[in-house]
Amino acid sequence: MNFLSIVLFAGIVIEVCASSVDTGYFWQVTDFHYDANYSTKGDPLRMCHDMSGGSYSNSIYGNYHCDSPWKLIQSATAAMKRIHPNPDFILWTGDSVPHVADSDLDLQKVQRNIGNITLHLRFVFPDTKIYPVLGNHDEYPKDAYPPAPGSDYYKGIIQNAHFDQLLTNDTAKQFLTGGYYTTLIHPGLRVMGLNTNLLYSQDKLTANSDDPAGQFQWMDNTLTKARTAKEKVIILSHVPPGVFEKYNSLMWFYDKFNIRYVRILQKFSDIITAQIYGHEHTDSFRILKDTQGSPVGTLFLAPAVTPWNSSLAGVGANNPSLRLYIYNKTDGTILNYKQYYLDLASLIHGVGNTNWTLEYDAQRDYQLPDLSPKSMNNLAVSFNQDNSAMFLKYLTFNSVSQTVKPGCDSVCKLTHVCSITELELLNFKLCQSSETTRTTQHPGPTPSHRHRRPVGKMYIYIIIGLGAVVFLLFIVVAIVCIRRRRHFVPHRFSRFSNSLGSGPIN
Ligand SMILES: [Zn+2]
Repeated sequence: MNFLSIVLFAGIVIEVCASSVDTGYFWQVTDFHYDANYSTKGDPLRMCHDMSGGSYSNSIYGNYHCDSPWKLIQSATAAMKRIHPNPDFILWTGDSVPHVADSDLDLQKVQRNIGNITLHLRFVFPDTKIYPVLGNHDEYPKDAYPPAPGSDYYKGIIQNAHFDQLLTNDTAKQFLTGGYYTTLIHPGLRVMGLNTNLLYSQDKLTANSDDPAGQFQWMDNTLTKARTAKEKVIILSHVPPGVFEKYNSLMWFYDKFNIRYVRILQKFSDIITAQIYGHEHTDSFRILKDTQGSPVGTLFLAPAVTPWNSSLAGVGANNPSLRLYIYNKTDGTILNYKQYYLDLASLIHGVGNTNWTLEYDAQRDYQLPDLSPKSMNNLAVSFNQDNSAMFLKYLTFNSVSQTVKPGCDSVCKLTHVCSITELELLNFKLCQSSETTRTTQHPGPTPSHRHRRPVGKMYIYIIIGLGAVVFLLFIVVAIVCIRRRRHFVPHRFSRFSNSLGSGPIN
């Protein structure tokens, strides 16, 4: 068997192994923020609400300053049905209620609002498993989830927001404890729907709690049992851990909750194969690292359906979006995803249509070998290069191709990169400061935290490697010299003596 035959044989084996992966598809849809008061005549600076016979002319599909009209929600779900009508399941990651003052809402309005979306998703996908979680806006008042388990609020969601049409009797019963539940997608693959709104730093009710609604303990127990049963786990939730990449040092969770949450993710990184979140309305991802700084998980953060311009200064708006994941059905690993969007600007200007189109294919457009934590971490690290083409792509996708303001300066870029690569606030700040000092040629601070930065590790490997090469060269030169029965002399003298063509200098 010659070399070419071996290569061909190896190629066939790899091909067979690759095609044996049982590939499946699922949708993620998030942050609808349906506003029943949206009006084509309403003032965009007042959420497109028509207070008194407005004279504006907003698109029936939405406005960047406002939340979703019903037409946009119908358009989004119709696109899901058209593009991939039979997914294995749908992950619906919360926030159905508009960004309006609590005084404009009440408990009934909030639950009815969510219920409209529930019934509509069930209508469009009557036979598809839909796993829902609540968003921070899906409470009344918003963000105010109670720390005690067993709140009546969850019963209201089951009954009035019609979650009983999505959850089984068993998962609905679990949901009553704190808005979280788990079930098997099929034997060997488990889904965990979490209520991370309980950890959100805007929830003033849980600030003094150790374990809001007992969710941490439940996570630990559930994941321990899953590991014993040799199951893999897909996590879905609304609010992600870590720092917002578009707003310097804004961490979503209370720090104490963020640390505890990340520790659980680290402890069970061998069985948690996918993590899916919403909330930010932007398109990003996060890398989970183990205590040695190696990437062991990816958190996928999908952008919103609502195009609403954030009230956080400088964050901006986004085009309406939907995400289709391609995954390994056996173990839940994310193999790729395709991001779809509606070009709302073209629609508003009368030159576009309501055809939701592919914005990008993650593996193809980021030129990734796969979507493993290592590859995703390498992608984020590559953003650091000057004029990184990948970073420019990421930046465009970050706002679902909506960005209109000029560029992203070095501080902005650093905030993106450090948010992606560091889930904990201390490490995020060290990442920012070490990168800043690196670019100004000053020695960086010594990391005193447990997570040593991989870059630091790399330098050590390079120094050890160079040392080994020098040592080997020394040995080789010594052997050559001994064979020639010469005394070993320092390089500069031997060269001098060779040039003269005379014998060695003693
Ligand atoms: Zn939202």
